[in-house]
Amino acid sequence: MPRYDFRCRDCGDFDGFHPLATVPDAVACPTCAQPARRRPGGGALLHGGTTAMRLLDSTARTASEPAVVAAPPPGARRPVSRNPLHRKLPRN
Ligand SMILES: [Zn+2]
Repeated sequence: MPRYDFRCRDCGDFDGFHPLATVPDAVACPTCAQPARRRPGGGALLHGGTTAMRLLDSTARTASEPAVVAAPPPGARRPVSRNPLHRKLPRN
């Protein structure tokens, strides 16, 4: 759920989490219950530097810049398949 910034005239800024389809233009301030307007800008889905954000960044990077390897890592075993049809596949 995206995070949106809201500003209360008296209390200042605070965050609110709302679904994309139902994000309100104003919410009640959690401190004084006055109407607080949503600040301009899109909702932030994730905070930078989190584990989830690092995972998304590395996943996006492998899609555009896949790591190329010349050989399997040392000590890696060949995958073994028990499917008899795989024995008919060409070997390199
Ligand atoms: Zn307030």
